[in-house]
Amino acid sequence: MVKTALLSVSDKTGVLELAQALHARGVKLLSTGGTAKLLADNGLPVIEVANHTGFPEMLDGRVKTLHPTIHGGLLARRDLPEHMAAIAEHGIETIDMLVVNLYPFEATVAKADCTLEDAIENIDIGGPAMVRSAAKNWRDVVVLTDANQYAGVLAELNDNGDVSTATKFKLSVAAFNRISAYDGAISNYLSSIGDDFDVTQRAEYAGQANSQFIKVQDLRYGENSHQTAALYRDLYPAPGSLVTAVQLQGKELSYNNIADADAAWECVKSFDVPACVIIKHANPCGVAIGATLGEAYDKAFKTDSTSAFGGIIAFNGVLDGAAAAVVAKQFVEVLIATDYTAEALEVFKAKTNVRVLKIDMSQVKKSGSAWEQGRNAQDIKRIGSGLLIQTADNHEMDLADLKVVSEKQPTAEQLKDMLFAWKVAKYVKSNAIVFCAGGMTLGVGAGQMSRLDSAKIAAIKAENAGLSLQGSAVASDAFFPFRDGFDVVVDHGAACVIQPGGSMRDDEVIAAANERGVVMVLTGVRHFRH
Ligand code: 5GP
Repeated sequence: MVKTALLSVSDKTGVLELAQALHARGVKLLSTGGTAKLLADNGLPVIEVANHTGFPEMLDGRVKTLHPTIHGGLLARRDLPEHMAAIAEHGIETIDMLVVNLYPFEATVAKADCTLEDAIENIDIGGPAMVRSAAKNWRDVVVLTDANQYAGVLAELNDNGDVSTATKFKLSVAAFNRISAYDGAISNYLSSIGDDFDVTQRAEYAGQANSQFIKVQDLRYGENSHQTAALYRDLYPAPGSLVTAVQLQGKELSYNNIADADAAWECVKSFDVPACVIIKHANPCGVAIGATLGEAYDKAFKTDSTSAFGGIIAFNGVLDGAAAAVVAKQFVEVLIATDYTAEALEVFKAKTNVRVLKIDMSQVKKSGSAWEQGRNAQDIKRIGSGLLIQTADNHEMDLADLKVVSEKQPTAEQLKDMLFAWKVAKYVKSNAIVFCAGGMTLGVGAGQMSRLDSAKIAAIKAENAGLSLQGSAVASDAFFPFRDGFDVVVDHGAACVIQPGGSMRDDEVIAAANERGVVMVLTGVRHFRH
């Protein structure tokens, strides 16, 4: 039976009607300052919490209901004689219904001119404490945390004279959900303003708290102009990750810029030697390594100079003036490097639209946790009303795991080419077929529904770029289900093929390699990327 209700709401919507209905049912009403005034002004007999506890509201309302008379009344288990005796001893009455909505923290911090002071003052302390007490003691206390719940609970009370156990449990769950969201909003807001990207201080927290995301900025629009979008980052971003980038110049990054920049950056930073990656629509259209970044760029650009137009270009080192001068000849949307020489920055100064990003890699470790290595530990993908979460594809090829399955053994040069191709294939959308030689991509077949088509497209792209595939290395991100895809790459000149193996028809494909005098090595691991 609901005999006593405590009402304390910031948003007063519907509370008067609720209180009137409760009063009509003979329920005793307790309330805090502002809410009590509203009810009293409308002729309801309401007892102020301060009178009920014998303790005044103080500290500008910071302490209103934080009193054993209130929390004892909410938390006492009616089925435990010891509990009932304890509250009786202290003259505490049970409170059977709690109606609370919290200080409007979210609405306050959403205002553009919100100061830290405003935000702090709008952190409700006593409200959540009461909600938790009531929700914990859900069998005995009806807890209402949203005006939308009032009508349903009143209807139940009118029909049955009480609220069912099932409803009370649902209300308790809703109450904890509300408190969780409220605390999340406080944590997000304070984390986002007290942020200095000091990775050394953050490392120790990162493992525990990286399921929390902080809004970095609203974006002009999403993947398409009719979509709204925003960028969020991990509470503690890994060192060397894209969200730690500093933009040195250029227009604001768009949603697609960021997605492609991330793809470029993740791929280029996987190389230990000077490397360049050019991305278009999330796929590499040119990847190369070289003695210098300039050489790497030249080679990467050659793979597919048509697609490279308006591309996202990433370097895993410090870009100097000479390399910058070459890059500046092409139309580039976003440029990423670990740093730039003064000469390099000078080159781009005139090209004010080019977004120039710098990502500090100095705190990234070679070993340790994924976070310490600058990687995500998890991948998250949104599906209809759900999430798919997996550990990230952080698998690194170990040379010892490579198995040569062809009669022909690879030369040292071929081995190098295959390992390079394999590394690139990991960053190409499936089905991926990548032709390489001499530390550069020659043709990339990406995102096709059939491996055979990816093989054909990779070869066409090389042909369009005027690149010879004779003697090239090919990586396939997953096994060849039939020998046809393999035959296509060999028809176009591949001399060695690296692939995971594991197909029912491995024997047929290996026999094909021997028949055609081609080297074949198996990695035992595949790199699907969807
Ligand atoms: P009222 O307008 O009735 O004066 O205040 C209602 C608000 O005060 C509600 O949002 C409630 O969550 C909050 N509240 C209740 N008790 C306390 C308390 O002890 N400390 C703080 N800071 N807020 C409280």
